Amino acid sequence: MSLTLYNTLSRTKENFVPLKDKNVGMYACGPTVYNYMHIGNLRSFLFEDILKRTLLFDSFKVKHVMNITDVGHLTSDADVGEDKMLKGARREGKTVWQIADFYTKAFLDDIKKMNLLPPSKLCKATDHIKEQIEMIKVLEKKGYTYFKGGNVYFDTSKLDDYGKLAQLNLRAETQARVEKDLNKKNPHDFVLWFTKSKFQEQEMKWPSSWGKAGYPGWHIECSAMATKYLGKQFDIHCGGIDHIPVHHTNEIAQSEAANSKKPWVKYWLHNEFLVLQREKMAKSGENFITLSTLIEKGIDPLDYRYFCLGTHYRKPLMFSYEALEGAKAARKRLNEKFLELKKTDTSSAAKQKKYLDTFTNDINDDLNTPKALAVAWDVLKEENITDKDKHSLLLKFDKVLGLNLKALKKEKLKIPAEVKKLAELRLVARNNKDWKKADELRGRIKELGYVVGDTKDGYEIKKE
Ligand code: AMP
Ligand code: ZN
Repeated sequence: MSLTLYNTLSRTKENFVPLKDKNVGMYACGPTVYNYMHIGNLRSFLFEDILKRTLLFDSFKVKHVMNITDVGHLTSDADVGEDKMLKGARREGKTVWQIADFYTKAFLDDIKKMNLLPPSKLCKATDHIKEQIEMIKVLEKKGYTYFKGGNVYFDTSKLDDYGKLAQLNLRAETQARVEKDLNKKNPHDFVLWFTKSKFQEQEMKWPSSWGKAGYPGWHIECSAMATKYLGKQFDIHCGGIDHIPVHHTNEIAQSEAANSKKPWVKYWLHNEFLVLQREKMAKSGENFITLSTLIEKGIDPLDYRYFCLGTHYRKPLMFSYEALEGAKAARKRLNEKFLELKKTDTSSAAKQKKYLDTFTNDINDDLNTPKALAVAWDVLKEENITDKDKHSLLLKFDKVLGLNLKALKKEKLKIPAEVKKLAELRLVARNNKDWKKADELRGRIKELGYVVGDTKDGYEIKKE
């Protein structure tokens, strides 16, 4: 029943054992705040939320650090193309600082709506320029860098195991990759520090020994901030699969080179993409679907959460509005069933155990949410345990599933006049001991989608 997680580094499921007792250090690459998050990005943050909730469920203490990328991320991961923040600023006629501030707030709003637990520490790249410069200086001192065309580069040929996470075949890649930055000595080398020579309009710039005004490359922020808040070695690092070949590969190179080649992170976890008609969801064009797009269509953010839980995080998830409507209907049913549970029954820990064990096994098996969700449904359908046990189990499961069952309120069920009239007639029939008529009226009520039950004072009506 112990937790196993698929480690990209070994390409196997491994038993999870933290470096220090029950304390877990977990770093998640956060958003680049030049636009709204699309729902594909949110799938990634949801996977990290399930991971964190599962660790907490298993009684680990979790320090969850997430960065906000507000500088240095170019449209191509290979250090070429436009600066994403500048692109956002130009699009909206605002400053890059205003763009960063606005989309950071939008991101926080989205994660709240999806009931994602907030990170223990949210850190902005622009608030940690000093730490980034310090780390580059360490690398420079150890001989891992070179200066060319105004930029400081990381020399990947200095590390024997560069590319181990992505299992890159460097020789084959060298042939295949179209390289545009002619300053690079090796195709996989990457920028640690840009000087202003790259973009004349660059607003975000800082002085350093490499030039009066410059700014960091994208990868160094994660190495510098993760080290600052989690130490030189920590347990888990996660993000989407697109980060494996470049961003995370380069984070490992910088961090291990700076820390005398000691292994940096023990477990690397990556989520597969949300896909739309076999394409990756992107931040432009018709494929750009945000949480607000869904809300406008009457989909609750928790419906989207439920939809994502139905597919394992390491499998691509095909998006369609039909499938999302299905998830919405299923969550509605689950909520209704939960609200109908009576809390006055007797309770038995022994009877709950079987289901609690199954749920724990499933979620601890590399976060198998589809199976864990199915256990919740099995509990609701089970006839041999009381409502009180069902209620208690579902609340326990929801600590991981995060469907916010605790906050559900019983809405006063609006019962159609016709159903009420039939129920009244049935009560009269019962009082007259006309059982045949009473049964017939029960049947007619059922046809209208309601169930009538007898109580001490008369009857109660529920939705079927
Ligand atoms: P970004 O803001 O581009 O840095 O992306 C934030 C997170 O979303 C990263 O961990 C990406 O790997 C992840 N991501 C990007 N596109 C998708 C997608 N279509 N499906 C799932 N995750 C994605
Ligand atoms: Zn990162």
